Amino acid sequence: AHVVCEPCFGCKYTDCVVVCPVECFYEGEKVLYIHPDECIDCEACVPECPVEAIFHEDNVPEDWKSWIEKNAEEAPNC
Ligand code: SF4
Repeated sequence: AHVVCEPCFGCKYTDCVVVCPVECFYEGEKVLYIHPDECIDCEACVPECPVEAIFHEDNVPEDWKSWIEKNAEEAPNC
């Protein structure tokens, strides 16, 4: 699955949401989350993100590893 990371904080764009073919983005208070069970890894959202906040779970930068769990926990609650 793909993961939304820290740079998403406060980002007002939803270019990623629009291109997702399975609508697996969920809106938190200040960030978006990707539901890991729904994401089909199509990568469509990656180049659309203006702040480069989206990574495949295997390529999440070390500092943002906690975002993998955060997306998984928060997306179903949005
Ligand atoms: Fe949606 Fe594809 Fe991005 Fe997954 S990789 S969140 S399916 S656009």
